Amino acid sequence: MSFSSFNLNPAILTALADVGYSQPTDIQNKAIPVIMQGNDLIAAAQTGTGKTASFVLPILDRLSSGQTQKKKRVRALILVPTRELAIQVNQKVADYSQHLDLTSLAMYGGVDESQQKQALIDGVDVLVATPGRLLDMYAKRAVYFEEVDMLVIDEADRMLDMGFIDDINRILDRLPKDIQHLLFSATLSHRVRELAKSAIPNPKEISIAANQASKSNIEQWLITVDKDKKSALLSHLIQENQWDQALIFIETKHGAAKLATQLEKRGIKAEAFHSGRSQAVRTQLLDDFKQGRIQYLIATGVAARGIDIDELSRVINYDLPFPADEYVHRIGRTGRANAKGEAISFVSKDNFKNLCMIESRLGHLIERRDVAGFEPKKPVPISILNYVPKSKRNMDNQ
Ligand code: AMP
Repeated sequence: MSFSSFNLNPAILTALADVGYSQPTDIQNKAIPVIMQGNDLIAAAQTGTGKTASFVLPILDRLSSGQTQKKKRVRALILVPTRELAIQVNQKVADYSQHLDLTSLAMYGGVDESQQKQALIDGVDVLVATPGRLLDMYAKRAVYFEEVDMLVIDEADRMLDMGFIDDINRILDRLPKDIQHLLFSATLSHRVRELAKSAIPNPKEISIAANQASKSNIEQWLITVDKDKKSALLSHLIQENQWDQALIFIETKHGAAKLATQLEKRGIKAEAFHSGRSQAVRTQLLDDFKQGRIQYLIATGVAARGIDIDELSRVINYDLPFPADEYVHRIGRTGRANAKGEAISFVSKDNFKNLCMIESRLGHLIERRDVAGFEPKKPVPISILNYVPKSKRNMDNQ
């Protein structure tokens, strides 16, 4: 399939050529025709698969033939869990609509709202928003929903993890009922389906095959290491391999700051990226990282959600993520849209059960490699595939 076979507005095809996309990805091939036919859709697809374009392109196509927007009105609404993702999705909207006469806006909390209010005064075609800030603006009558024609709930599983369910339901209650609903989620878990059932009565459903959840263009491996040796191991790997770039995931804000200091002492410049830093600093850091001005970014999982960096070569799970789906999300930062990537996890003995859950989720073991001088004093046992933790044994988890 080629993009031209979707019957998209030619101005969109020109923009796709400008951004260098030659062929649709799997999710785009599956989702674009379904959305263009006006169906409601729930889709299982992770970041990194090209899912953003799979909903943005049909939205732009639909809006390109409609009327111009009215004051404080919005025609397509994209709900995302984090500020970073709002900025990123809005950037994609701008990229793909560069030859169309459409407006878009990213709306998120943690920054002064006056600019966002101002931008809404004349109305926008596409609003990319986090749920809390959107409801705030709605309550303040800075935005009205009656012109909304299409809704996307992006990263639905993440929204639920972050406790946005009530906000999402409040937004759904306030939207017109006859709009097109699209829901994207890394996994269609029981909770996501419950949300979909109440909001989207009769959707088409598509998913990328489960074995593509763990993408083959990502080389995954792990190093077993004692907990107290992890920072020395990371410095060793960076220096030994002269890594150009790494996105390093860590559990806590405090841990991120501490690791940055430890690396600095060994002559490695890294920056900590977490929710304790201001939005302005985070935006700058991300930009510096994308431009290669920062080589090593140490990020907490929530802050790093949805970060889209072209050709990011490597992610490091300094701390192993929980739950297992988070591992899939994280490694999705690399190897994007078929580029090669590497995902390396540091695993200590106390991570054993978590490792088993991740490997069971992937459906395969992760290759273990030793690094000389860092062999653990407390070895990590051999993994058990199809591991189910006691607490979940009787639960419908998918
Ligand atoms: P997403 O899963 O939407 O976060 O997209 C992941 C990355 O793939 C982004 O950097 C997109 O710009 C890129 N991308 C999306 N679709 C295509 C395509 N058809 N060809 C090449 N790159 C793409």
